[in-house]
Amino acid sequence: MPHPSTLWIKNPQGILSDTDAGNGIVVRDNLIIELVPCGAQPTTAYTEVFDAANHVLTPGLVNTHHHFYQTLTRAWGPAANAPLFPWLQNLYRVWARLTPQALDAAVRVALAELLLSGCTTAADHHYLFPAGMDESIDIEVAAVRDFGMRATLTRGSMTLGEDDGGLPPQSTVQELDVVLADSQRLIEAYHEPGEGATIQIALAPCSPFSVTTQAMSESARLAGHYGVRLHTHLAETLDEEEFCLSRFGLRPLDYLDSVGWLGAHTWLGHGIHFNDAEIRQLGAAGTAVTHCATSNMRLSSGIARVLELEQAGVPVGLGVDGSASNDGSNMILEARQALYLQRLRYGADVPVERALRWATEGSARVLGRRDIGRIAVGQQADLAFFKTDELRFSGSQDPLAALLLCGADKADRVMVAGRWRVLDGAIPGLDLPALIHEHRRHARALVDLSTPVIQYS
Ligand SMILES: [Zn+2]
Repeated sequence: MPHPSTLWIKNPQGILSDTDAGNGIVVRDNLIIELVPCGAQPTTAYTEVFDAANHVLTPGLVNTHHHFYQTLTRAWGPAANAPLFPWLQNLYRVWARLTPQALDAAVRVALAELLLSGCTTAADHHYLFPAGMDESIDIEVAAVRDFGMRATLTRGSMTLGEDDGGLPPQSTVQELDVVLADSQRLIEAYHEPGEGATIQIALAPCSPFSVTTQAMSESARLAGHYGVRLHTHLAETLDEEEFCLSRFGLRPLDYLDSVGWLGAHTWLGHGIHFNDAEIRQLGAAGTAVTHCATSNMRLSSGIARVLELEQAGVPVGLGVDGSASNDGSNMILEARQALYLQRLRYGADVPVERALRWATEGSARVLGRRDIGRIAVGQQADLAFFKTDELRFSGSQDPLAALLLCGADKADRVMVAGRWRVLDGAIPGLDLPALIHEHRRHARALVDLSTPVIQYS
């Protein structure tokens, strides 16, 4: 007797797999159990068949850096044409008025965008806890569960305000004791350490210019105690480098090392301004980097040295970054941006497939996961299905290359842990117009109340 839920996804138009899977894959419950070579039939008895003749399959895309709440402040005039520091200084004042209801809508909008673009696992860096926002991560957990996705939710923090030489306004920073107690509560309540995890928690002091040295080292200690990962922004801009040199007398990576963060349990957002010796140091430590191509272009931060990082042994994945610096959460388009930005640095022979692998297995490694990010036997059945029948694909020859070169921007179907979460380009059960209406209402309220802006020239 075949197992009651064994699905053969047969005859895909194209597939990004570890070995030949020309005639598809077999999924049982939440796992991939067989890759079926070209011209072959499954050796496993199956109960259902899905004909993927019109679909290109990739592993579910994995987004490793985001700030979901920022979907509320996309394309906001005073931050539309500025580099990181003035961009932040204007936005902090708006974000300081975040409410639980606005965050809930923002998280759902970000998750919907990600899922519809083929993303099955997302990391969020939430560091904003003004008064009344104590349950921010709990709100995120509930939304991720509703969408049936996986997430690494980071308990972020800001502890160094303007009064003490930091960048964020005082109303957005917290006492370290409060941060650590909440971090501990969240790890104990939600972190799933094993394979197939839906929710993982990591600790994420925001950046060198918004947290104290003590917050960095105490977060590392707590993360080490519980075996959870560490995340922060690092080497994003030269402003940050100057800040570290003048405040700590250290370059950003030396500062990171000095607070006990350099290791395989850490991943860094951006990682642009590393010199040759620092790249070797990162590789030796196994510290991972998230490449955020669109955000880096949007804020003119620089171009990460992705191929050299990988050459040195650094795990590299992709991130859409917060929606105030992208201003979207589209993961398949992010892979296209990363491909093109890296071609500007290294030349036109950076392969398309390499960018798809950054978005999948590279990103999975960045999050410390070995159970997702590949189409291989024993992996979680997290899959994205793209159609290439739209006008933009007409005349395309190689279906996998077409995803990035022709600019695929939405998945037709998405599966997470063997369950369909997107069907015919829509999320079953989600009233998208109602969500957009609600989200826009909160976004307007947040910005309408805004204080005067800082002029950037
Ligand atoms: Zn970021």
